[in-house]
Amino acid sequence: MSTNNEPKGTAAIHRPAKADDFSEWYNVLIDQAGLSDKRYPIKGMNVWTPYGWKTMRLMDSLLREQMEGTDHDEVCFPLLIPEDQFQKEADHIKGFADGVYWVTHGGLNPLEVKLLLRPTSETAMYPMFALWIRSHQDLPLKTFQIVNTFRYETHQTRSFIRVREIHFFESHTCHTTFEDAQAQIAEDLEVMKILGEQMCIPYLALQRPDWDKFPGADYTIGIDAYMPSGKTLQLASIHQYKDNFSKPYDITYETEDGEHKHVHQTTYGMSERLLGAIVGLHGDDKGLALPPNIAPFQVAIVPILAKGKADLVMPQCEKLAEELKQAGIRVELDDRDLRPGKKFFHWELKGVPLRMELGPRDIENDVVMAARRDTGEKIQITRADIAKTAIDLLESIRVNMLEKARTILTNALVEVFTMQDVTDLEGIGKGYWCSEEACGTKVEDETELSLIGFDPDHNGEGSCVVCGNKGTRMAYFARTY
Ligand SMILES: [Zn+2]
Repeated sequence: MSTNNEPKGTAAIHRPAKADDFSEWYNVLIDQAGLSDKRYPIKGMNVWTPYGWKTMRLMDSLLREQMEGTDHDEVCFPLLIPEDQFQKEADHIKGFADGVYWVTHGGLNPLEVKLLLRPTSETAMYPMFALWIRSHQDLPLKTFQIVNTFRYETHQTRSFIRVREIHFFESHTCHTTFEDAQAQIAEDLEVMKILGEQMCIPYLALQRPDWDKFPGADYTIGIDAYMPSGKTLQLASIHQYKDNFSKPYDITYETEDGEHKHVHQTTYGMSERLLGAIVGLHGDDKGLALPPNIAPFQVAIVPILAKGKADLVMPQCEKLAEELKQAGIRVELDDRDLRPGKKFFHWELKGVPLRMELGPRDIENDVVMAARRDTGEKIQITRADIAKTAIDLLESIRVNMLEKARTILTNALVEVFTMQDVTDLEGIGKGYWCSEEACGTKVEDETELSLIGFDPDHNGEGSCVVCGNKGTRMAYFARTY
């Protein structure tokens, strides 16, 4: 049984209630639920344990499905980047200079050209794109990879949220024109919408102010979730590069008229922060609650073995498991020699969306008892309808989890009109902004909040929350991770 082979965590550590100490609850839960082991001797480089890795791989497969559905090709570039290639785009280097790991030696010999561990892969990919792209017929070029990237994080690390070795998704595209690149960004936002629904993560998509955009980007759209700690967590970002990288990296194509032009580029990045958001948004005092689409086990079957009835119950449980598997459901039959109550506790901690129980009386009555992880509701299901009902229930759990989290985000949004409103804010503030950086800086200097971005589609005007001058941008203010 996979559930028996897991590393021994620190189960003895007390897990506080989520409402009392969210931060400690989060840290202890990740450990106790077996998602990750942070006892590796480098801070921020955690070990993916079997259950966590299964969950992450399922999230990756949802991503791959979206990428394939939008004609992206998967690639895999080297981890090491030569220093001279990295230094071609000035803003990019400036943005990452403090945060890279260097490889300076090969064996005992100092390297002539230092190498760095990729913090992101623009500078690894773009010299190759320059070789791959010749004519307009090679465009659009749409690639992605799911790899580990490295950033030397100096702040306190936290599993899935702030790490030094990042499980990273990055798509990189090249287009003939700025407008084509804009259409790519619209497609990326559509992909984000689908993933958010599948993973039960509601979010805000906001254009970052210029001082906070990705180094080298023309503009950046950040995807932020709202965590129960009252802080927003950036889950993903989408960047319009224009020709900012294609010029220094000389990525050109020949037009139909024989003219040579620079390509326009976009990128889309995401990480295991998606999993951090799921833990934080949906977990409770019983443990994790995993959305059905990413749960390694969607159904856990617990046999109720009355004395002398094991020979009757176990084959029926195996038959039930097989039937659910045939219907495409990920199922685990818990045949461990433990009391049912202990097993219930275990599967609640693991966040399995649906638990089923089967005992002699159920078999006699041709029913299966089920319990939903999201609501705790118990349901009696007719044995003959089990596969169809289970599929319907899993979908109903997904919808309910998404709605619940959406309500939390909606309720957190507060209109703000003055700096005092921002200072007093508990959730996320929305208010007009004059577009001046000085007003953003003032918010950061005088409150615990930041101006995290603005709604790129907003029409209207009002007085800037900070300075009172006319503003046309609807800005968002929040505490952030
Ligand atoms: Zn202002």
